[in-house]
Amino acid sequence: MRELRGIPVSSGVVIGRVLVLNDPRERVQRRSISAAEIETERARFDKALDASLTDLSRMRTEAEQHLGKEAAAIFAFHQGMLRDRSLVEPIRRRIEDEKVNAEHAVQEQFRVVAEMFASMPDSAFQTKVDDVWDLNHRVIGHLVGSHERDSARSTEGAVVVAKDLTPTQTAMFRGKGVLGFATDSGGPTSHTAIFARALVIPAVVGLERLVENAHDGQTIILDGDRGAIVLDPDDATIARYEQRIADNNELARSLDELRPLPATTTDGTELKLMGNIEFGEEAENVVENGGDGVGLFRTEFLWLTSDHEPTEDEQYEQYKAAVERSAGRPVTFRTFDLGADKYTQERALVPERNPFLGCRSIRYCLQNVAMFRTQLRAILRAGAHGPIRVMFPLIANISELRQARMHLDDVKEDLDADGLPFAREAPVGMMVEVPSAAVMAHAFAKEADFFSIGTNDLVQYTLAVDRTNERVANLYSPAHPAVLRLIKDVIRAGRRAGIDVSLCGEVGGDVTYTMLLIGLGLRTISSTPSRIPHLKKVVRSVDVPECERLARAVGSFDSETQVNAFIRDQVSKNFPGLLDGRTADG
Ligand code: PEP
Ligand code: MG
Repeated sequence: MRELRGIPVSSGVVIGRVLVLNDPRERVQRRSISAAEIETERARFDKALDASLTDLSRMRTEAEQHLGKEAAAIFAFHQGMLRDRSLVEPIRRRIEDEKVNAEHAVQEQFRVVAEMFASMPDSAFQTKVDDVWDLNHRVIGHLVGSHERDSARSTEGAVVVAKDLTPTQTAMFRGKGVLGFATDSGGPTSHTAIFARALVIPAVVGLERLVENAHDGQTIILDGDRGAIVLDPDDATIARYEQRIADNNELARSLDELRPLPATTTDGTELKLMGNIEFGEEAENVVENGGDGVGLFRTEFLWLTSDHEPTEDEQYEQYKAAVERSAGRPVTFRTFDLGADKYTQERALVPERNPFLGCRSIRYCLQNVAMFRTQLRAILRAGAHGPIRVMFPLIANISELRQARMHLDDVKEDLDADGLPFAREAPVGMMVEVPSAAVMAHAFAKEADFFSIGTNDLVQYTLAVDRTNERVANLYSPAHPAVLRLIKDVIRAGRRAGIDVSLCGEVGGDVTYTMLLIGLGLRTISSTPSRIPHLKKVVRSVDVPECERLARAVGSFDSETQVNAFIRDQVSKNFPGLLDGRTADG
């Protein structure tokens, strides 16, 4: 039995058998060819290229139908790459110049491109490197016929294990009975994570050494709640996890009943539980899970899954879909939070030394005003179909908020001049995710209509811990008293100014923190839609004074270890089984 830890990116627990997917970087044989064979090899390459393009167009259509336009755009991007002559021509030349087989020429050329991206200092290029290897794998698969072999393997009841899963591979498993995904690399914002969540399949990434330890057919437990996997579990472990699965099912059934009920504490305080979404269609998940609207629409995913800057109309359609699917509940549009780990193709060409401290987010928008205004137009126009809120990310100083608001006002004037209907009175708020904004929240509260605390970034900037670096993951703790003090100050400043304060980082979906957050005065939480029923369960079982007592006790601790131990203990006492099933290992 062997247990490995990674990063949980899509929740749920499953027991299945391992299906190891070939590493797209696997070496292919080099074979020297004679001059007479050059044309044959080139013809083989052309045929494989055509077959790959056909695959991609089929997968694009399927993704469009089942996963949404943005997911499909990833395949459109792959198509674009394969049609790019600067990639394809050197392969044809290599076959002739080096007199080698097509497989080798393909692999070597793709390697050059992948290494070019990998050598860039920005870790964000990893996604692009993965795209290159994905295409390499596809073309070589057609050359050697392994595609057919891969797709002939049964995926029913399998947990797919791979060094990394490319978007095409992940999407390929839709409707094929796959139970889970486990990969050695990747982070919460990787393509695999996005697809896994869209497919509602449990997934753990960043396991580092799973592939070298796993083999086909082996029994595997995948715990997408805690980010763990167990290979060859012993009987006692299987029994424990079976119990977990049964408990989860039971819990899911009991939570189902809560969906239509309000999130009101036992002493009558009403909370708003909202959902975080990446794509417009997901607004439906929020409604289905009994949410009060969209607390965070990460609009940048539209950009990230597209090979071009989304036009105003493309954005408008997406945003309108979110508004319509929310059926009268508010949708909070966060303007493009690009940069750092979320880069666009265009930005890939201008790497930064410290991208998380660089030209990201609102800074990028304020330097690219035309793009920013196009988005603001699309958002405001979508607001003609239902209630919306506009939110600016990574605000660190007051002038950024003022400039952003000024652009919004200008856009309103333009829309008026164009005679287009739009949301004239949409509340305008900001993310509080930089310590400077948290410390100065009282000042920002005078100029923002609402705050949303972004703990994912607030933790990394307060503790100086890169949120995407698994080597310092143990230092990344929202329970750190410094972080909690900032959260408390922001909530208090917002309440004093009479503006709504919500929290939309991952902490929001973690029931360990719910009582503490209520005790600190928070009344709106936005989380992954599937967590809303869990949060509702806690909210409906507690009263505000007991949460305040808990918050006071936590306020006296000096270390995150004490905080963690205390809040976990309280929650496991009050809500056995609700702690993401984290009781399975004691
Ligand atoms: C955050 O930083 O907490 C947040 C919600 O935004 P993102 O995770 O997209 O940076
Ligand atoms: Mg953020």
